Amino acid sequence: MADRVGFIGLGIMGRGMAHNLLRAGFDLTVWNRTAGRMDDLVAAGAKAAASPADLASRCDLVITCVSDTPDVQAVILGPSGVIEQVRAGALLVDMSTISPAATREIAARLAEKGASMLDAPVSGGSEGAAKGTLSIMVGGAAADVERAMPVFQAMGKTITHVGGQGDGQMVKLVNQILVVGNALAMSEALLFAQAGGLDLPKTIEAVAGGAAGSWMLANRGPQIIHRDWRPGFTIDLQQKDVRLALAAADELGIPLMGTALIFNLYRALQAEGLGGEGNHALIKALERLSGVEVKAG
Ligand code: NAP
Repeated sequence: MADRVGFIGLGIMGRGMAHNLLRAGFDLTVWNRTAGRMDDLVAAGAKAAASPADLASRCDLVITCVSDTPDVQAVILGPSGVIEQVRAGALLVDMSTISPAATREIAARLAEKGASMLDAPVSGGSEGAAKGTLSIMVGGAAADVERAMPVFQAMGKTITHVGGQGDGQMVKLVNQILVVGNALAMSEALLFAQAGGLDLPKTIEAVAGGAAGSWMLANRGPQIIHRDWRPGFTIDLQQKDVRLALAAADELGIPLMGTALIFNLYRALQAEGLGGEGNHALIKALERLSGVEVKAG
C-alpha cells in the first residue's frame, strides 16, 4: 500500500509542494500552525490534522517544511509534536533548511521510536515549489531515499542523494555560500559600473554571456538597476542560511571570511528594517558605504 503522506508547514514553499502531492494523487493530511492556511488544501482534497502528533498518528511518511531549526524541533520534539505519536516504521522527511548537527540529533530521537529520517532541503524558490521543479538535496539511508522517491518526484525535478543524515543540509549550505558570494560580486560590480557612469543595462548585457555571467546577475541584476526589491528569497531567510553555514564552519574549524562579511552586511540591512526585501537588496549595504545609488538612467 502507498504511504499515507502528512505535510507540516504550509508557508510560501510548503503550500505549493503540498498541492503538487495532491495533484499526484497522494493521500494527504496537512497541519499548519495558523489553521486558516489549511483551508484551500482541504478544499482541494487534503485532510486537516489537529496537531503534528495527530498527523503523525495517521501517516506513514511525514514531511516538515517550516522556517528554522527551533521550529523543526518544536513540531517534531515539542509538546503535541510528531514524536508523541509517530508510528514505528514511519519516515520523517524534513525539507526545511536547518542545522545539519540538529538534524542528526532529531534523527537519533526519532530512531528511538523506530522511525527513520531524511533531510531533504530544496532550492528553486516559491516558483519551483508551485511548479514542482525544485532541486532536492537528500541526506540519509538509500532505502529511505528510495521509499520517498515518488513523493520527491511529485515536488521536484533534480533529486540528488548526496550522503548520510545531515549531508543534505550541508550541501544546501554549500549552495547558500555560492549564492551570497555571487550576490556580493554582482553588487560590487554594479556599484563600480554606476560610479563609472556606465550604461547599466548595456553593461549587464555585455558581460552576462561570458565567464562573468551567473543566474544571480541575469535574474537579479535587472531587478537591482530598476530598484525592484520584491523578494524571490527574503533577506531574513538568507541571513538565517548564512548563519547556519557559519555555525557549521565553526564546528568544522574552518574560516569563511567572505561569507562572514556578507552575514554582517545582511545584519546591517535587517537592523534598518529591510529583512522582508529580496536578498539582492544586499547592494543597499554597499550603497550606504559609498553614497552611490545604482539605478538605470
Ligand atoms: P514561510 O513562508 O515563512 O513559512 C514558514 C512555515 O513554517 C509556515 O507554515 C509557518 O506557520 C511555519 N512555522 C514557522 N515556525 C513554526 C513553529 N515554531 N511551529 C509551527 N510552524 C511554524 O517560509 P518558506 O519560504 O515556506 O520557507 C520554509 C523553509 O524552506 C525554510 O527553511 C526556508 O529556508 C526554506 N526555503 C525557502 C525558499 C524560498 O524561496 N522561500 C527556498 C528554498 C528553501 P504559520 O503559517 O503559522 O506562520
